[in-house]
Amino acid sequence: MDEWVLAREDFDSKGEGLYEALFTLGNGFFATRGAAAESSADGVHYPGTYVAGCYNRMVTEVAGRPVENEDLVNAPNWLLLSFRIDESEWFDLGKVEVIDYRQELHLRDGVLHRLVRLQDPSGRKTLLQERRFVHMESHHLAGLELTLSPENWSGSLEVRSAIDGTVTNAGVARYRDLRGDHLLPVEQGEFDEECLSLQVRTRQSNVHIAEAVRTRVSRNGEDPQPGRTAVVEPGYVAHQIALDVDQGDQVKIEKIISLFTSRDSAISEPGLAARDAVKSAPDWDGLMSRQTIAWEYLWGRLDLELEGNSNAQLILRVHLFHLMQTVSPNTFDLDVGVPARGLHGEAYRGHIFWDELYILPFLDFHIPTLSQALLRYRLKRLHHAKTAARREGHEGALFPWQSGSDGREESQTLHLNPNSGRWLPDNSRLQRHIGIAIAYNFWHHYEVTRDETFLRFWAVPVILEIARFFASLCTYNSDLDRYEIKGVMGPDEYHDGYPDSDGAGLNNNAYTNVMTVWVLYRARAILDLLPEHHAQEWRSRLAVTPEEVARWDDISRKMRIVFHDEDIISQFEGYGDLEELDWVSYEERYGDIQRLDRILEAEGNTPNRFKVSKQADVLMLFYLLPPEELQQILTGLGYKFDPTTDIPRNVNYYLQRTSHGSTLSRVVHSWVLARLDRKRSWEFFLQSLESDVYDIQGGTTHEGIHLGAMAGTIDLVQRCYGGVHALHDVLWIEPALPEELSRLRFAVHYRGHRVAVDISPRRLRVSTLPALSAPIRVGFGDEIVELAGGSSKEWPLNSGS
Ligand code: BGC
Repeated sequence: MDEWVLAREDFDSKGEGLYEALFTLGNGFFATRGAAAESSADGVHYPGTYVAGCYNRMVTEVAGRPVENEDLVNAPNWLLLSFRIDESEWFDLGKVEVIDYRQELHLRDGVLHRLVRLQDPSGRKTLLQERRFVHMESHHLAGLELTLSPENWSGSLEVRSAIDGTVTNAGVARYRDLRGDHLLPVEQGEFDEECLSLQVRTRQSNVHIAEAVRTRVSRNGEDPQPGRTAVVEPGYVAHQIALDVDQGDQVKIEKIISLFTSRDSAISEPGLAARDAVKSAPDWDGLMSRQTIAWEYLWGRLDLELEGNSNAQLILRVHLFHLMQTVSPNTFDLDVGVPARGLHGEAYRGHIFWDELYILPFLDFHIPTLSQALLRYRLKRLHHAKTAARREGHEGALFPWQSGSDGREESQTLHLNPNSGRWLPDNSRLQRHIGIAIAYNFWHHYEVTRDETFLRFWAVPVILEIARFFASLCTYNSDLDRYEIKGVMGPDEYHDGYPDSDGAGLNNNAYTNVMTVWVLYRARAILDLLPEHHAQEWRSRLAVTPEEVARWDDISRKMRIVFHDEDIISQFEGYGDLEELDWVSYEERYGDIQRLDRILEAEGNTPNRFKVSKQADVLMLFYLLPPEELQQILTGLGYKFDPTTDIPRNVNYYLQRTSHGSTLSRVVHSWVLARLDRKRSWEFFLQSLESDVYDIQGGTTHEGIHLGAMAGTIDLVQRCYGGVHALHDVLWIEPALPEELSRLRFAVHYRGHRVAVDISPRRLRVSTLPALSAPIRVGFGDEIVELAGGSSKEWPLNSGS
């Protein structure tokens, strides 16, 4: 098995959407789904191109109410490349006999290949070979090359190479009642014998998107001097190129495109930039050699090598590949976050959720400049989060559950249950815990990099304002002498309120409450970390008073955590009183019960009545916090907690009551089981790997990949199985290698060092490459050693460790 190639062996129109998502090519600036070049949105195919951070808002009337949504905009389709023979119909996969079909995504250099042998209704056989890339280095460029070989015919061939700016956002069936006509034509035309350009703008956000195309044709390596006509219509440009061909000829069509927007820096205006870029772009070979170098560099920094399971190795690389296509060094200068579904489709409208929690910690160890750029997206929206908190009568910063262009709350107020056809209130914005994820990511970045400037100017205001918000959510219950947080949702989206309470949220969600204490500890620690005069500056700039800090301390000692069945941490207050669901009967009746919420609602019931979770909620605590730290928080609150017995009991309890309706859930379960039950952990890990590649989440991947789960699996291999974590100035490496793996190798970047980690069942070897930076401290078990650049250290492992 080639561990660098994701292949598809045949064409099946039903699976097309899935492969379009999986074969998306991108570079962190823009991405284009792997749709057939000749296709347009027709129910089978859905070509989509998305530019990072390019959003537009639209209002639609739904059930007599205006509903406003902000979408990541589907940009003009640059792929369009088709042909016809002797003036017959334009090539359409659905109208010919497909003799051979193969698509291969080559991960090493980011090239998608397609081979089709077809016979048209007149019996003409043609071989079609296609390659395409979205350039990882020259990030405004992409290319498509089509080679046509007439196998049993000679005649006239007409090629059409177009850009279509009349596309809409129509990729998600559930959203089709909502407006998706985001683009208006601005200008289009031919600017050179072989080049065309087109400019559109988004209706509300007024982002101008310009694309230009250069199409060249050769026959058997020579210029056939074809006839060329330009078709120019509002929002559409094409070159139609005619030539005579003979049986056995090879006709090559090279289409190079450029894409710019008015959000880009260092340009005059996007139209001019796009025209200049495409005119001066190198040819295919020139672009490809740079593309290969750019990907080589990324793989050199990021690849994880597994021995023992080729399929897992391949899928992990697919995950890394899609992560890099969504965010990459091309993202450094952009003002963008990480959309939960990548730049691969329109699900969740390209919004940014807490999924960054599964993505950024990994990047901290590989390309910290990139994770910092993504944290800047949050920093820049701090003012909006502060306004949102004030609007809700709170202090500090309330970050939105779903975030888009300017950082306002983008969550819907209604969502459709496709099972029942009903529009239902969407209360997911009550997931205040998004702020905890942001604080965690800011802290983790600092813990790995020890970047003082980042700490002083970025982390301090963000973490303090988040701490302040959570403290202001707390109310004091004098009967219990405890602080409580009421009316929120935890990560488990099945529960948005008590039965019959109209989704008003829940009280004392354990994850939110414990992590609030964690955030408050961090806020205190951060002020202590700074030299006193800097801490003083911040205290006065943010008006942090001694009384406020004293209240934080009080909350950190008296937060309420609810337990039931003695030592089960209740997901929220009252969870223990909910009914048990008859899982067996639901499984028998419905088969796939991952989306129990939809099933129950369609039955006129609600998950709020039951002990059922969509995803890890309490278990998130074991995912994020080392056992000692969790124990310290809980005992500090006056609760008994013994990690050795209480963690397995809680894991077991919630595992039996979770349907994994979110792809994030299996990642977390695999992680928390890694040190309790390695076999089970490995099973969950394999299932997480299958989430998108085998589309196990009820067929949702065609709407976009699940980037949190993709990055989560990579992170799991590195930080959980590999055991890499940064704590108190030490890089700890404490592996828990699954039995199914005979070796695991990767390199992390830590404080100016490239640290190679090589784990086999009996040995851990850590080595550093020569470096200018000061030596680092590396820990294993109870030993901490100092490693300078160019040194190494080995530890024996028991196969049980
Ligand atoms: C999950 C959330 C997640 C969102 C976006 C939902 O299905 O429940 O936790 O943030 O998807 O990935």
